[in-house]
Amino acid sequence: VGKGTQAALLVDHFGARQLSSGDIFRKEICEGTELGCLAKTYMDRGELVPNEVTIGMMAKRLETDDIREHGFILDGFPRSVEQAVALDDALEKLGIQLAKVVSIEVPDEVVVSRLSGRLSCSQCGEIYQVQSKPPKAEGVCDKCSGVLVTRADDAPETIRARLKVFADTTLPVIGYYADKGVLLRVDGSGDPTEIFKVISGKLQ
Ligand SMILES: [Zn+2]
Repeated sequence: VGKGTQAALLVDHFGARQLSSGDIFRKEICEGTELGCLAKTYMDRGELVPNEVTIGMMAKRLETDDIREHGFILDGFPRSVEQAVALDDALEKLGIQLAKVVSIEVPDEVVVSRLSGRLSCSQCGEIYQVQSKPPKAEGVCDKCSGVLVTRADDAPETIRARLKVFADTTLPVIGYYADKGVLLRVDGSGDPTEIFKVISGKLQ
């Protein structure tokens, strides 16, 4: 929870590029690519997108000069040990090493209450949160006046499915990176600015 916010703050701070699997999927979906359409059918059900689809999209980005020059922050990826291993392979071929893996941790109840109040702009994709980041006018985007909607992957039944997938599939990734000695665990229940201070302090 809050990883998108922290990734954006880190991007500002270090000048690196943010690679979010969600954004990459949405971009591919918008461009109507075959990989994008395939990814969407899984995301709408709260399920993990198959590895070959995800890795294919990620590898395309990691090879660009822009990433080479500025570095990158992976946001929401890898989500399984299988993906972590595939990512290691891809990075090794490119001669890149991960500096740190950050795990922002909060209890399940906090996850559900934060996600269930989440609204997205149907035009520009800006994210709002009814408690912590409400729009100035109800149901309307501050930035582009687009209509705010609850995305299919933020519906309560989808959130429960995502938590189950997380416990079964993503939690082991934390152990994988802990074994490699690159894991940084952070308490994510506080204020985003405070959380950022902790993370950026450890990345200097
Ligand atoms: Zn908007």
